[in-house]
Amino acid sequence: MPTDASPNRRPLVWFRSDLRVEDHAALHAACEDPPKAGVVAAYAITPGQWKEHHWGDPKIDFIRRALVELQKQLAGLNIPLKLVHADTFDDVPAALLALAQDTACTELHFGREHEHNERKRDQATEDAFENAGLAVHTHNTKTLFEPGDILTQQDGWYTVFTPFSKKCRATWQHRHQRRPAPSEQRDPGFHGDAVPNTMPGFAPPSDHIQQLWPAGPTAARSRLDRFLDDAIADYDTARDTMSIDGTSRLSADLALGTLSPAQVADAVYENTNHTETGPFGYITEILWREFYQHLLLAAPHVSRDRSYRKEYDELEWNTDDDAFQAWCEGKTGVPIVDAAMRQLSRDAWMHNRCRMVTAMFLTKNLFQDWRRGERYFASKLIDIELASNNGGWQWSASTGTDAAPYFRVMNPQSQGEKHDPAGDYIREYVDELKDAKGKAVHAPHAAKPGLFTGGYPEPIVDLKQSRAEAIDRFKAFRS
Ligand code: FAD
Repeated sequence: MPTDASPNRRPLVWFRSDLRVEDHAALHAACEDPPKAGVVAAYAITPGQWKEHHWGDPKIDFIRRALVELQKQLAGLNIPLKLVHADTFDDVPAALLALAQDTACTELHFGREHEHNERKRDQATEDAFENAGLAVHTHNTKTLFEPGDILTQQDGWYTVFTPFSKKCRATWQHRHQRRPAPSEQRDPGFHGDAVPNTMPGFAPPSDHIQQLWPAGPTAARSRLDRFLDDAIADYDTARDTMSIDGTSRLSADLALGTLSPAQVADAVYENTNHTETGPFGYITEILWREFYQHLLLAAPHVSRDRSYRKEYDELEWNTDDDAFQAWCEGKTGVPIVDAAMRQLSRDAWMHNRCRMVTAMFLTKNLFQDWRRGERYFASKLIDIELASNNGGWQWSASTGTDAAPYFRVMNPQSQGEKHDPAGDYIREYVDELKDAKGKAVHAPHAAKPGLFTGGYPEPIVDLKQSRAEAIDRFKAFRS
């Protein structure tokens, strides 16, 4: 912790995927013993890197809008938010150091990120600052527990979720403790940079997406409050029903850090009986996110495009572009898959059960490489977060840690019948099937010809046969 009381002390706080002022360990440490020369904040705009990470317009605009609020909140504390323009992570260390030197900052604070490219960037930044004689302090702004603190009895990383989650609950009191927002700081005497109306190389997403996803810490808090008031009690039963708004929709906030996991978990503990099934089940999901974040350090190769089970990198997948395109566009002729893929395009978000169904359909029924699906999701999701996206894809493809076994292939039609029993979710997103009555919507091609309007496509694959083929190919590969 900084104890330097020199009159020149001016910390620079580098915000990344932690765009908030409350419970921000780096900001909190920088503002401790209020520095006499004030505090400066920075954010690096890296469009080339975002493209390399396949992030799309919804995510980038969500960042941009969250920055607008963050800047206002920081200005209220007399902390100017400066924007650093660097195309890729390689350009960040020099650009950030130049900013620190131009603004006479004396030390750097930031929250740790665990992905491969992010860690490389951070190491290079630390080196650049230390070579220039500026101290660097890193903090935990991303997880409930510090990765490396939740270990097995043999001091190894957990690679199976259930014992990991039990250990987290058993050591709950050792989780990250929330930090309050800092108080007003000395004015360093200059302003922040205006947040641009669009980010270079990215277009604003539809008005619908912008309205559906108000961005920033205030909007995040409202989403949390709505969930606590209306939905958490029934979360355990409602979370799988696709047509119900039974989940918190906080994934984009947790991914971007407009809320911290400790803010969410503490709000659950303070406002509910956390032993009841709804809140208990909800904390389990927060711990899934935690698990995948820790896995980035336990198995760093997963953030380098490799299968968790490395042998699966040799598996030969199909490469049929037309089938992939039909999947992306929601034109596979399998209603629940198409509804989900169209939800992704329209809303920049997809229900969790549907993410599993569509990912299994791509990797098992179409037998396509999970990386293709992972990238497509990254380009569309407002909540894209590498650890959870990769974890979800590798779970579905049976290449991941604690993954679905290769022989357990979800049947999308039965999933639809079970989790969208009335067919309302399908009718909402698949226009061609909006007049389909009742359960017939799950198997429109079995219904009387001409019953439904609008040329809904024939299935591009036979579900039973493709499932059997996928299992055979996995079996053959493993032997
Ligand atoms: P809730 O049900 O309200 O859950 C609360 C929070 O717990 C979520 O906001 C999220 O942070 C976390 N969470 C819930 N389920 C999971 C899970 N299975 N794995 C990890 N964390 C979880 N989640 C992302 O945040 N970003 C992604 O890019 C992402 N990609 C996915 C891809 C696939 C193929 C699959 C199967 C899952 C993916 N998930 C991802 C996990 C999950 O689908 C979403 O977190 C969830 O649907 C978000 O909605 P919610 O906030 O209403 O969730």
